[in-house]
This record gives sequence, C-alpha cells and structure tokens, in this order.
Amino acid sequence: MISDDERVKIGIIGAGFVGSTIAFTLMMSGLASEIVLVDIDEDKAKGEAMDLRHGASFVSPVDIETGTYSDCRDADLIIITAGANQNPDETRLDLTKKNTEIFKDIIPKLTSDIDSDTLLLVVTNPVDILSYVTWKLSDLPSHRVIGSGTVLDSSRFRYSLSQRCDIDARNIHGYIIGEHGDSEVPVWSATNIVGLPFEQFNEVCNQKDNINSKEEIISEIKNAAYEIIERKGATYYAIALAVNRIVKGIIRDENSILTLSTLVQDNYGLNDVYLSLPCIINRDGIREILNLELSSSEEAALTHSAKVLQESIEQIEI
Ligand code: NAD
Repeated sequence: MISDDERVKIGIIGAGFVGSTIAFTLMMSGLASEIVLVDIDEDKAKGEAMDLRHGASFVSPVDIETGTYSDCRDADLIIITAGANQNPDETRLDLTKKNTEIFKDIIPKLTSDIDSDTLLLVVTNPVDILSYVTWKLSDLPSHRVIGSGTVLDSSRFRYSLSQRCDIDARNIHGYIIGEHGDSEVPVWSATNIVGLPFEQFNEVCNQKDNINSKEEIISEIKNAAYEIIERKGATYYAIALAVNRIVKGIIRDENSILTLSTLVQDNYGLNDVYLSLPCIINRDGIREILNLELSSSEEAALTHSAKVLQESIEQIEI
C-alpha cells in the first residue's frame, strides 16, 4: 500500500497523442501513484485510461482515473497538453490565438481552487507563449508555471551529435535555448564532451566527416518535428520521455538542470517573456535560472528569439 505521504498525483489535461503517451511513460517509470486524465472528449480519455489500466500487472501500482479540472486541484503536478493542432490552411498566429482561447477556458477552472504547492507544466504549442498565458491567467508565482521548452530540442541536439560522434548521447553536453521553435538558439560555446569544446570533437569522435557542420545539425533539429508530422501526423514519444525527465526532476526534488521555459526577468537584458534557459528544477518548481556565458552572436540570437516571442504575445489578447 502507498501511504498518503508517498502518493504522487499527476493531472494530465488533454488525452491526445501527447497526453496519453505521457501517461504511459509515467506509468512505466513508476513516478506517479495516481494519474488523472482530463479531456473535453470524455470517451477518448476513458478509452485511454482503460487501455493503460490493463497493464497494471506489469508495473508498480498506479491508479489511472479520468475526471474533471477540479479533480486535479490537489495534484502535485498538472501537465497541460490540451489544444488544437495546426490545420494546413492556418498560420502559426491562428494556432496561437486558437489555443490561447482554449487556455482562457481551461486555466481559470484548473487554478481557481488549486493547492498551494501544485505545479503547472505546459506542453501545448506554442509552448513559450502558452506558458506565459498560463502564468498570466493563473496568478500563480512564475516558479510554479513551467513550460517544457527546449528540453526536447536539447535532447535532439545531443542525439544528433551522438550519431556523428558515435558516443552515448548522455555523455554529450549541450543546450538549445530561446524559443521552442524556429528562432531557437544552439549554444555551441557550451557544447562539450568530457570538457572538450565542439571544435575539438574530432579528437574523440569516430566519424569525422560531417561533425563540424553546424548548419546541418541545427537544421536537422529545427526541422525534426515538421518532418515527423509529415510522415506520421504527430510527435509524441520523445516529448513524453522529455516530460518524464522533467517530472522526475520535480517529484524526486532533484535540483536537475534542464532547459525549461520560464519567466525571464532581467536575464541578458530580457524581460517579461517566457523562453528556455538552463534552470534548476525541484519540488518547488523553478529554483533559479542559470546564466550561461554566451558568445556575442549567441546572445544576439537569444535577443532575436525573445523579440519573436514578444511580438507574438503582443498580437494576442490574454
Ligand atoms: P491531439 O489533438 O492528439 O490532442 C489534443 C487533445 O486536447 C485532444 O484529445 C482534444 O480533445 C483535447 N482538448 C482540446 N481542447 C480541450 C479542452 N478545452 N479541455 C481538455 N482537452 C481538450 O494533439 P497532440 O498530438 O496530443 O498534441 C498536443 C499538443 O502538444 C499540441 O499543441 C502539440 O503541438 C504539442 N506538442 C508539444 C511538444 C513540445 O515539445 N512542447 C511536442 C509535441 C507536441
């Protein structure tokens, strides 16, 4: 039996591809003892919950329920994946406006009676804008409203380098910061293997031909989601693993460093925008933002990324 102290309750809003795969990943990792799936399409949520529950005999005990927003109010963490996807004839701004309207409906209901230590983790795209919208609508302190940000992009970056180097991705250190999207910024100056900077990767890499092609690597990462969506309609496995990693940092109070989307106030001269920077995360949410030493071109690219996001925010009504 799990005692009340040990109970970890996680709410997932949106039981689509991403939400249900996150539930599956959390079930496999044993991080949650209770998962509540909420979707406007109640039948879909119920179907996903049934399918997941039937694996109960293979994993640590976990209650998988469906419910309403108010069933999530005493959760340790609420993960938000609900939203519309971009139609072929829609612009990015159309999608931003559409999902902002959905969040205007969800967030007040979700947070009206929320426990004082519940954290919110936004995954829906555009994740930086919607994390900002969630923070504004919820009135919660910003350390409790987190966006999954570029945790996935940083993983794609490390994978891409690992393939070129023939070295375990876990031993390659590198960060993508800024927007989770087209203006994201690879921090080449902080990318390293056992402390060796990127320029010296050839010394430890087996495959030496295309390791130094920065443009090729970054274009691979930026286009990854588009390419997967074109081939199979959605991306959900890697984002679910990224979310599982974030949840672990939170629930186990790990003080882990991850490139999460957070409210930036006076970092690199930027203010009042959510974007990704390396953050220390624990049970209280974002403990602090770490200021990487950026090259002047990286800092300029980050400023541009913040501008792109701020221009989007100016075009929506919160
Ligand atoms: P999906 O269409 O399969 O699922 C979305 C779900 O949200 C649907 O089941 C829908 O019924 C539900 N929904 C819509 N409005 C709702 C409301 N008001 N309340 C409750 N549920 C509601 O989409 P998906 O593939 O699961 O993607 C979900 C989101 O995750 C998208 O915005 C996608 O772009 C985003 N995503 C983010 C990342 C990232 O790195 N941040 C990666 C992959 C996908």
